[in-house]
Amino acid sequence: MSTHPVIVIGAGIMGASITYHLAARGADVTLVDAGLPGSGATRHSFGWIGRMPGDFSPAGDLRALGRHHWERLAREVPGLEVHWSGALVWGEHFSSVGTGDGQAAVREPNLTSAPARSEFRPDDGWLNPVRATEKLISAAQENGASVRFGTPVTRLVSSRGDTVDGVELGSETLDASTVVVAAGIGSTALCATAGRSLPMISSPAIMVRLGASPGLVRGIVANDMFEARQDVDGTVLIPLDYNTESSMEDLMQVGMDARRLFVKSFKGAQEAAVLSAEIGWRPMAADGEPKVGYSETPGLYIAVAHPGITLASVIGDAAAEEILTQATRDELAIYRLN
Ligand SMILES: Cc1cc2nc3c(=O)[nH]c(=O)nc-3n(C[C@H](O)[C@H](O)[C@H](O)COP(=O)(O)OP(=O)(O)OC[C@H]3O[C@@H](n4cnc5c(N)ncnc54)[C@H](O)[C@@H]3O)c2cc1C
Repeated sequence: MSTHPVIVIGAGIMGASITYHLAARGADVTLVDAGLPGSGATRHSFGWIGRMPGDFSPAGDLRALGRHHWERLAREVPGLEVHWSGALVWGEHFSSVGTGDGQAAVREPNLTSAPARSEFRPDDGWLNPVRATEKLISAAQENGASVRFGTPVTRLVSSRGDTVDGVELGSETLDASTVVVAAGIGSTALCATAGRSLPMISSPAIMVRLGASPGLVRGIVANDMFEARQDVDGTVLIPLDYNTESSMEDLMQVGMDARRLFVKSFKGAQEAAVLSAEIGWRPMAADGEPKVGYSETPGLYIAVAHPGITLASVIGDAAAEEILTQATRDELAIYRLN
């Protein structure tokens, strides 16, 4: 039995959750990231935890488990806040079952034009993805985890034939009992260094942030025109499709358009100002499904999933158990690499 630590590569929401769950189970674990925690896709995320009602597919079930595990984490991780605000949705893309109960104007009183038909999803919620990532890492450290930030992993190391048993950090090598690749869009390149293929697609999206007075948006609002939610400090988040924008000027234009739409849609929003408009690249396997579990290369565990905020809680719990006990968790069974 190896006495080396488990090394988790990637301090986004996924790696942070896996590290926390490993440390909470008493494992010796080291978290390594090229930058600061949450500086990948996690930084640009809307942070919506939810699923389509009535979706009883395996993917829907996994999302429901994600919600359940976020409830648990909010109880056990100091300072971790999950806001179970619910989501008000309408329009073709988000809802086919809207009712005309007039509740939209009550739930979101600042909407300038509340929809006649809408649907409220009381089970949905949101979190601030970077803050949640930081809280998970702090709790992991409280449980003995080590961290190395600003440290890119240059290669997975296989000193004994086909088994991954360490990572190379430039001129330094760290030995590991298991290496977890939770490196977002960097995962393909890392797996390739161990001869393992992890096909992923490029999936960019834009996140616009507006500074606005707190309390304008009560929960999550989503329809065919826009999605929006507001953080406790007043920051409004509006995620948008990416349409080949390729310069800061293009992005600022997207930000200004989003602001205009927000001002038109919410009373009292005239003061809203664009804080940023940035592209986030969502880590997504080529078939769109999560890829979680030991690969065919011994010692190499992979954790890449979309939607990663919703799923990080359950995947963190399941991955930690699989790594430490060699058990296989049923909810991950159809999401293996092969
Ligand atoms: C605009 C937008 C909106 C979204 N909205 C939602 C939503 O509402 N709900 C939801 O569930 N999901 C949402 N997502 C998706 C979600 O944000 C991602 O699935 C999730 O953040 C992925 O987390 P991760 O930890 O896997 O990857 P990342 O956050 O990308 O973290 C990977 C980390 O690995 C590090 N890394 C990479 N290569 C190396 C290396 N060689 N050495 C060391 N470190 C390395 C990076 O620095 C990075 O910190 C959204 C995404 C975007 C872009």
